[in-house]
Amino acid sequence: MDLVFKIINFIILFGALGYLCRNMIKDMFAGRKNKLSEELENAEKAKNQAKSLNSDIEKARALNEERKEQIMQGAAEQAEINSKAISAAGEVEAKTLIANAEKSEAQLREEMQSRVSADKVRQVAAITGEVLRRGGFETSKQALNERFIEQIKELVSAMPSDILNMNELKKLDISIKSAEPLSEEEMKKLTQIICETFISCHNEVDSEVIGGVQMKVGDTVYDGTLAHQLDRLSNDVESNTYRSSKQMQSIAENIKEQLSKVSDTIDVFQTGEVISVGDGICRVSGLADVMAGEMLEFPNGLKGMVQDLEKENVGVVLMGEYSHIQEGDSVRRTGRIIEVPVGESLIGRVVDAMGVPVDGKGPIKAEAHRPVESPAPSVLSRKPVSVPLQTGIKAIDALVPIGRGQRELIIGDRQTGKTAIALDAIINQKGKDVICIYVAIGQKESTIAGVVEKLRTNGAMDYTIVVSAPASEPAPMLYIAPYAGAAMGEYFMYKGKDVLIIYDDLSKQASAYREISLLLHRPPGREAYPGDVFYLHSRLLERAARLSEEAGGGSMTALPIIETQAGDISAYIPTNVISITDGQIFLESDLFHSGVRPAINVGLSVSRVGGAAQIGAMKQVAGRLRMDLAQYRELASFAQFGSDLDKATRDTLHRGARMTEILKQGQYAPMSAADQVIAIFAASEGYTDDIELTEIARFESEVIDYVNRNYPELHDEILGGKKLNAEQQTKLKACIETFKKTF
Ligand code: ATP
Ligand code: MG
Repeated sequence: MDLVFKIINFIILFGALGYLCRNMIKDMFAGRKNKLSEELENAEKAKNQAKSLNSDIEKARALNEERKEQIMQGAAEQAEINSKAISAAGEVEAKTLIANAEKSEAQLREEMQSRVSADKVRQVAAITGEVLRRGGFETSKQALNERFIEQIKELVSAMPSDILNMNELKKLDISIKSAEPLSEEEMKKLTQIICETFISCHNEVDSEVIGGVQMKVGDTVYDGTLAHQLDRLSNDVESNTYRSSKQMQSIAENIKEQLSKVSDTIDVFQTGEVISVGDGICRVSGLADVMAGEMLEFPNGLKGMVQDLEKENVGVVLMGEYSHIQEGDSVRRTGRIIEVPVGESLIGRVVDAMGVPVDGKGPIKAEAHRPVESPAPSVLSRKPVSVPLQTGIKAIDALVPIGRGQRELIIGDRQTGKTAIALDAIINQKGKDVICIYVAIGQKESTIAGVVEKLRTNGAMDYTIVVSAPASEPAPMLYIAPYAGAAMGEYFMYKGKDVLIIYDDLSKQASAYREISLLLHRPPGREAYPGDVFYLHSRLLERAARLSEEAGGGSMTALPIIETQAGDISAYIPTNVISITDGQIFLESDLFHSGVRPAINVGLSVSRVGGAAQIGAMKQVAGRLRMDLAQYRELASFAQFGSDLDKATRDTLHRGARMTEILKQGQYAPMSAADQVIAIFAASEGYTDDIELTEIARFESEVIDYVNRNYPELHDEILGGKKLNAEQQTKLKACIETFKKTF
């Protein structure tokens, strides 16, 4: 019973529970269902959205396509319009371009020819080497070896460095290079020649040498190999290449000739090895016999100059682009002090400090070469200065006259007309049989180009050489340039010609030398210049001279230029050069800016030897001028303080102002000595006293014209060199007086 109750209870409980939970379960399922339908709805929405998006994209794409087409069309139209406009505007330009191209084509072709030919020859040399390396040369190879052994007997010798090596190391390395192993007999012969002196000796086989033998004794190479000959041949090509087709033929002949000589010559030279390189300075080991100032050959034809001789190595300055030089590169001695091409063919050309043309007018076939450093003429081979070198500038020719063979310094701050004086002096040498050399040191390339252009338009390039060492060049080139110019001038001087050389300017050379010295670790002295900076300029300027007849009879006049800082002529380099030269022309900024041009400070300028060379008439008028100007200068400084001056003082001031005015002169307008005499005579005789200062320039040019027309003999009488006699003076005075009546 109990059990039945329990069961019934259970069933009731279960039923009640089921009833109670039914709603909950229903709710639960209903929520699920709702959620599901919601999600389904969402999915449907998303689907629709995607669909519409798709269609949007489709639409946008179509739109884009359309727009693209439009733009393309527009662009095409615009391009057409543009091209029409451009072609119309450019037609004229194109025409001139074509004309220019045609013009320069001939020039280009000519230039290309010389280059192509150089390359061709190099190719020929390379191909020949290749062919010979491959063989077909057996018999003559043998002959080459025999010839080498035959010739080496006379050539082999011990250099000082070899002896040093033997003394210190008790041994000397000798190496022999040949295309094939040398026969026992050949080796025997060779060792016989050298064994008594040298100990270790071995034969290295290197087919690269093609044929012949190369022997290295210490640093000295005895090279009789074909490969070396071909190397030299292709290196020589540049200097043997000339432009015209006639000369082209001679290249072929040249190669033939060189090739025919190939087996006969043994090249003897010493080599060293680069141990460090940087800043245009290079240290080389192994050149025990090298000379100071000697030229060395680096790979790719780079030249170097020996500057420092030390126990273990030598310091070398590199004369050009050196980025390809590496540690371990071989360096070859030339046995020659660094030299430049000299001769007539340089006239009218612009060359760099090594004499290499930089004006694009093709190679120079020089008559000769001269070492850049050479001793100055001795006292006995000199003659006193007695012939004037007219600069055509009144203030200089009258007050600081320059004689041929003199050294006159032009000194002043920057932009005071230093270069202008030098250029006028060059321009004035036209037709006077003086060869001019303008050495530009450390200037901007554009400035140098301007100078060359000015010289050309004034017809001065017909007798002028320009040596250009712009600031962009490495310091050694700036250092060497004045010496190179001097070497070019000396060639003419020793041939009996007169030379005028301008070093513009030596302060830049001194800085370049200071740079080199500091890089070579030489001890710096005053203003960080090395101790021998005086010698730098003295040995250069000593080379200017007037030679005696026996020594050649020519002359070299040097006009060095020095730039001062704020007019300080007592700085280190200015005092050095002032003490070396025979006088100086001092230019002042204040004068320059107050309109006195050329801005020569007459009080501080002097010429110590030129007076002896001044022509008589000039000396006559200049004596008076110098006195007038000296008094004027003295009084002018006082006159600033008071206004009530006596008549004599006023007269002196009046005259002085006119004298100063008469000495003013424009650029590129040099005057003949006779014209200068007339102008100064007129002023110092008082004919300008009643003329306004502003009228003086017109008076000067007109009176000179008038006198030349009405008293034409005077010109030659003045240039004859004699003083003006009383009769000539009265005649000249009368002439000026009649002119003044019309002025
Ligand atoms: P730098 O220090 O730059 O080498 P510089 O001292 O050589 O200068 P110049 O270049 O010769 O001076 O001249 C400076 C300027 O003065 C130039 O523009 C030049 O044309 C002008 N000038 C020089 N002399 C005269 C002169 N006599 N009359 C008129 N202008 C002149
Ligand atoms: Mg200058």
